[in-house]
Amino acid sequence: MHVTAIIAAGGRGRRLGAAVPKQALLLGGRPMLQWSVEAFLACGRVNEIVVVVPPEWLASPPEYLRRGGLRLVAGGERRQDSVANGFDAASVASDVILIHDAARPLVDEGLIGRVIDAAAEGGAAIVAAAARDTIKWAPAKGDEVPRVIERTLSRDAIYLAQTPQAFRRDVLREAVALGRAGVEATDEAALAEQAGHPVRVVEGGARNMKVTTGEDLVIAEALLRAEADGDRRDRTASRAGALAEAGGARAGDAGLRIGSGYDLHRLVEGRPLILGGVHVPCERGLAGHSDADVVCHAITDAVLGAAAAGDIGQHFPDTDERWRGASSIELLKQAMALVHDAGYRLVNVDATIVAERPKLGPHRPAIVASLAAALGVAPAAVSVKAKTNEGVDAVGCGAAIAVHAVALLQRSK
Ligand code: MG
Repeated sequence: MHVTAIIAAGGRGRRLGAAVPKQALLLGGRPMLQWSVEAFLACGRVNEIVVVVPPEWLASPPEYLRRGGLRLVAGGERRQDSVANGFDAASVASDVILIHDAARPLVDEGLIGRVIDAAAEGGAAIVAAAARDTIKWAPAKGDEVPRVIERTLSRDAIYLAQTPQAFRRDVLREAVALGRAGVEATDEAALAEQAGHPVRVVEGGARNMKVTTGEDLVIAEALLRAEADGDRRDRTASRAGALAEAGGARAGDAGLRIGSGYDLHRLVEGRPLILGGVHVPCERGLAGHSDADVVCHAITDAVLGAAAAGDIGQHFPDTDERWRGASSIELLKQAMALVHDAGYRLVNVDATIVAERPKLGPHRPAIVASLAAALGVAPAAVSVKAKTNEGVDAVGCGAAIAVHAVALLQRSK
């Protein structure tokens, strides 16, 4: 049996304040999409993986998508357009095609196998969770607020659709054709249902959760941590249990986290000198792939470090043409969005610039204001100090400028 998996990550959906698409947000130090990709790569029953990504990713995909066995295609306007593009790229020899949403990073091999078997047998199958809460029917009526319950539904028959969803190729072809003909649907199963195909239910657990909010991210992180600790009780913990654990960790440590950052760039002729987003007049400037703003780089590493969210090289690699000549103050803003998404706010930053020349005192207020704006804090929360190295070593000889920075974060949620 030839099985193809389509991982849908073509959306540009950003939550409020996030500077990166959801699928690139970090979970346990890895982008969300990478978790799904690795789950399918690890599944011996999947022969081919098509990853649908935002079109702008194709020219220079992240490292974890540059592997054998992965085919990348551009996403479309709506989710169903992205899946249709994935279907076109899937081998015509596919017997079963799986569709998985990158917002469910904790899918596992067992679940993938069960939904493949169910689809191979019945034509179509989806992973779904049995409703555990009591289901109320409270339709919107004009602008009436608050809503009023009309009735209570029997939850016995209610299932909440998840992914992966699996289809025999002929069934998915019909579903995709309906979508292309203009039928709107929030999942492929709905299109298959409309085409008259029975769709089986494979029960999925709470672990296959959808990560779409900052709170979901905290719960998913807590689940992963519990598993890494090898605690079997926590392995089967409910969402509530995981949330309680995350909450306990917050209360215990007052939610404060510190991070340090360091960077150094060489001074060369023919480059402008940019420090903290401010152009400082100087006969030489700093060499680098981006604008080489050594102050922003050190502070970016400090804030990412405090959130344990990787480092500047991981998020904005200098091997990536997207970041050539990039404004580092913009990268700092993006790093702050990651920090906010991880559930932290910045308390303060303190940076020390080590440079023989030029004299930085006159530029300090502008640098502080620029950094404060990028960090989204008051100037009083930003300290920038300048030192020389007394003529000692490369920095002291004026061959380079170095910056040390620390940042303090506090949990915001
Ligand atoms: Mg640097």
